[in-house]
Amino acid sequence: MRLHYDQATEDFRAELRAWLEANRPQPEEMSREPSQSSAHLPPWARTWQRRLFDAGWLVPGWPPELGGRNATPVQQMVYFEEFAGSRLPRALNPQGLSIVTPSLIDFGSEEQKQRFALPSLRAEITWCLGMSEPGAGSDLAGLSTRAELADDGFVVNGQKVWTSGAQHADYCLCFVRTDPDAPKHKGISVLIVDMRSPGITIRPLPQLTDPKQADFNEVFFASVVVPRENLLGPLHGGWSIAGGSLAHERGMLWIDQASSLERTVGRFIELAAQALPDGRRLADNAVVRDQLAQLYIDAQALKFMGYHGFATFARQHVSPEHSVLKLFGTELERRLFLTMTEALGAAAIDVSTPTGRRARDEGPTAVRYLRSFAGTIAAGTSEIQRNIIAERVLGLPRR
Ligand SMILES: Cc1cc2nc3c(=O)[nH]c(=O)nc-3n(C[C@H](O)[C@H](O)[C@H](O)COP(=O)(O)OP(=O)(O)OC[C@H]3O[C@@H](n4cnc5c(N)ncnc54)[C@H](O)[C@@H]3O)c2cc1C
Repeated sequence: MRLHYDQATEDFRAELRAWLEANRPQPEEMSREPSQSSAHLPPWARTWQRRLFDAGWLVPGWPPELGGRNATPVQQMVYFEEFAGSRLPRALNPQGLSIVTPSLIDFGSEEQKQRFALPSLRAEITWCLGMSEPGAGSDLAGLSTRAELADDGFVVNGQKVWTSGAQHADYCLCFVRTDPDAPKHKGISVLIVDMRSPGITIRPLPQLTDPKQADFNEVFFASVVVPRENLLGPLHGGWSIAGGSLAHERGMLWIDQASSLERTVGRFIELAAQALPDGRRLADNAVVRDQLAQLYIDAQALKFMGYHGFATFARQHVSPEHSVLKLFGTELERRLFLTMTEALGAAAIDVSTPTGRRARDEGPTAVRYLRSFAGTIAAGTSEIQRNIIAERVLGLPRR
């Protein structure tokens, strides 16, 4: 089987490659300043995102008035492949670009699009996503943060948790309960909350993988006033926005993941052929050879399953394969780093080995293993994906 694209798609790819080559941030521009959190990249990414937006390369599938170029679905997939290969980020605030902004475009008023969506695309404002609560994660509809409508707007009381990058965000897309008497899916609304509002307290949660950097936060709301015009979509109609936001998150995630897994398996193969600091060569170990072959096969399988899912999505605009991809990709990542950590032994934590480069994407193998659990939880846990696959892909009865 030979997979190839038509000439128009290859022309699109060539145009993007040439643009990236001519415009990519230079090493001196990419300051040594680290990311503030997984949700906020270093300051140079602001200028880079703006450059992409101005050239129509930030959101190519969108119309020109939103900074796009009406790229077809296949061109968009090529776009994401090229970006994954270039290893450049697209956005200062990835959640803001890939989850919040599409929700603002889909559900916002014209005024909200001008006030919030376009400045987000231009990297002028950043966002966090206020969904999860101590008592509402997988069961998001069980959220209990209350918003009561008063004369001067909504008054919000409650708590969010695991809010990525809240301490650096300008705004929060916040899911709140506005009708406590309605069935739980029907009493939820979405508010755009200014994170500088009086009554908000943010407590960063230190992490095992890097105690100096907090990706997550607890966010407390004590009688926070939110202007009425900051309601996104209809009052009590927030559940469909939740579904829409999560769909945006799932959309093209697999491309980045498949590309990063393929790269890491490749690096593992290279490493296996070299002598480790203790003199061992992993390629001499029959069990590791076997594991490597399986990881390589699985990484390829993920990529081709992704193409298959994409083809279904492009035709029907729904693709239950997304759950299979999410589950398989994130579990494969965890298995890959566990295998590497076990095989490398002490070298998995040694920052002076080739595995120990300090960039976020290439930290010590053991740390990457610890981080790999995040993917199996965020955007729907592995257990929830299995439920979805059982019910919607296999058609098994609901339990
Ligand atoms: C890296 C990362 C970034 C995140 N960023 C954000 C963010 O910015 N904003 C935000 O709002 N949230 C964020 N989250 C939170 C994330 O959405 C939740 O962690 C996730 O939805 C799971 O909810 P929970 O942690 O409350 O676990 P729970 O829902 O309490 O689940 C606990 C365990 O029970 C299992 N379980 C639950 N229900 C079922 C079921 N029906 N069947 C079988 N098993 C089940 C789960 O799989 C899990 O193993 C982030 C999480 C991570 C890891």
